[in-house]
Amino acid sequence: MDCDDCLERLYQYLDKELTEGDVTVVKQHLDDCVGCSDHFVFEARFIKKVHDACADDRAPFELRERIVLRLREG
Ligand SMILES: [Zn+2]
Repeated sequence: MDCDDCLERLYQYLDKELTEGDVTVVKQHLDDCVGCSDHFVFEARFIKKVHDACADDRAPFELRERIVLRLREG
Protein backbone atom coordinates (compact mmCIF):
# COMPACT_ATOMS: atom_id res chain seq x y z
CA MET A 1 0.00 0.00 0.00
CA ASP A 2 1.28 3.48 -0.82
CA CYS A 3 0.20 6.81 0.65
CA ASP A 4 -2.51 7.43 -1.97
CA ASP A 5 -4.09 4.05 -1.24
CA CYS A 6 -3.89 4.73 2.46
CA LEU A 7 -5.55 8.16 2.23
CA GLU A 8 -8.27 6.75 -0.02
CA ARG A 9 -9.14 4.22 2.67
CA LEU A 10 -8.76 6.65 5.53
CA TYR A 11 -12.41 7.71 5.63
CA GLN A 12 -13.68 4.18 5.27
CA TYR A 13 -11.36 3.23 8.07
CA LEU A 14 -12.67 6.04 10.27
CA ASP A 15 -16.25 5.04 9.39
CA LYS A 16 -15.39 1.41 10.19
CA GLU A 17 -16.40 0.36 6.67
CA LEU A 18 -13.21 -1.53 5.85
CA THR A 19 -12.81 -5.28 5.89
CA GLU A 20 -10.54 -6.74 8.56
CA GLY A 21 -7.80 -7.32 6.02
CA ASP A 22 -7.88 -3.72 4.83
CA VAL A 23 -7.83 -2.44 8.41
CA THR A 24 -4.67 -4.44 9.06
CA VAL A 25 -2.98 -3.05 5.95
CA VAL A 26 -3.98 0.54 6.75
CA LYS A 27 -2.80 0.18 10.35
CA GLN A 28 0.51 -1.22 9.14
CA HIS A 29 0.99 1.73 6.80
CA LEU A 30 0.08 4.22 9.55
CA ASP A 31 2.70 2.62 11.78
CA ASP A 32 5.35 2.99 9.10
CA CYS A 33 4.40 6.36 7.63
CA VAL A 34 4.52 9.54 9.69
CA GLY A 35 2.82 11.58 6.96
CA CYS A 36 -0.29 9.40 6.79
CA SER A 37 -0.28 8.92 10.53
CA ASP A 38 -0.45 12.72 10.96
CA HIS A 39 -3.30 12.88 8.45
CA PHE A 40 -5.09 10.14 10.28
CA VAL A 41 -4.86 11.88 13.68
CA PHE A 42 -5.97 15.16 12.14
CA GLU A 43 -8.93 13.64 10.29
CA ALA A 44 -10.01 11.55 13.26
CA ARG A 45 -10.10 14.65 15.46
CA PHE A 46 -11.81 16.70 12.78
CA ILE A 47 -14.51 14.12 12.11
CA LYS A 48 -15.14 13.69 15.82
CA LYS A 49 -15.54 17.45 16.20
CA VAL A 50 -17.95 17.59 13.27
CA HIS A 51 -19.97 14.71 14.68
CA ASP A 52 -20.04 16.32 18.10
CA ALA A 53 -21.04 19.71 16.71
CA CYS A 54 -23.63 18.57 14.21
CA ALA A 55 -26.14 15.75 14.34
CA ASP A 56 -27.02 16.14 10.64
CA ASP A 57 -25.21 13.49 8.58
CA ARG A 58 -25.18 15.62 5.46
CA ALA A 59 -22.81 18.30 6.76
CA PRO A 60 -20.00 15.93 7.71
CA PHE A 61 -20.26 14.27 4.32
CA GLU A 62 -19.89 17.58 2.49
CA LEU A 63 -17.00 18.59 4.71
CA ARG A 64 -15.37 15.27 4.06
CA GLU A 65 -15.71 15.69 0.33
CA ARG A 66 -14.02 19.06 0.65
CA ILE A 67 -11.13 17.57 2.59
CA VAL A 68 -10.69 14.80 0.04
CA LEU A 69 -10.55 17.38 -2.75
CA ARG A 70 -8.03 19.42 -0.80
CA LEU A 71 -5.84 16.41 -0.18
CA ARG A 72 -5.90 15.48 -3.86
CA GLU A 73 -4.96 19.03 -4.89
CA GLY A 74 -2.40 19.43 -2.18
ZN1 LIG B 1 1.83 7.13 3.85
